[in-house]
Amino acid sequence: MGKQRLGPNIAVFPGTFDPPTNGHIDIIQRGRLLFDELIVAVLQNPEKEPLFTTEDRLEMLRELFHDMPNVKVAAFDGLTMDFARKCGARAILRGIRDGADLRFEMQLANANLMVGEVETVFLLANDEYILTSSTLIKQIVEMGGWDKRRLLRLVPPNVAARLRERLVRNGRRARNAGATKR
Ligand code: ADP
Repeated sequence: MGKQRLGPNIAVFPGTFDPPTNGHIDIIQRGRLLFDELIVAVLQNPEKEPLFTTEDRLEMLRELFHDMPNVKVAAFDGLTMDFARKCGARAILRGIRDGADLRFEMQLANANLMVGEVETVFLLANDEYILTSSTLIKQIVEMGGWDKRRLLRLVPPNVAARLRERLVRNGRRARNAGATKR
């Protein structure tokens, strides 16, 4: 077989990261060992009404990975396959927590392969983080479940600090809204 000339082995890890969790971090730390470059790609998804702005999410991720030279952080819009191709990526990286993730991810991966001709590589979630999700974390914090020690099992300190900041701000906003109503 003739040798094919391949460029650097780049992968894109797309997600909402609203906010980044210890589960995401684990996938990034393991994934970066498999590729020359891993681009953590933050989806600017207005339909989802994220708690954190794209800028906030990018900043949190940059704070976390600034000392890892082969991890880049970028925002994107539109189809992951288009972004991956634009980056010259050979693969899309995704994490799988359970059967529900797998079912959904198989459909996405199939579309990305059939339509976009981009492969998807899956890493299984570390069993420590199998139940960790950004949605769950937001629910806990929105219901006032601020307990630093417990939250730090789910998110890194910089994210915990931003969640707290957001909680205080939202609380103040809710109190102000209550005051104007009366
Ligand atoms: P999306 O809206 O694209 O699912 P997320 O930010 O929720 O964005 O997830 C991005 C990727 O990270 C997905 O592949 C998801 O399966 C994976 N992921 C999310 N939470 C975890 C976790 N706790 N452990 C491993 N992978 C995870």
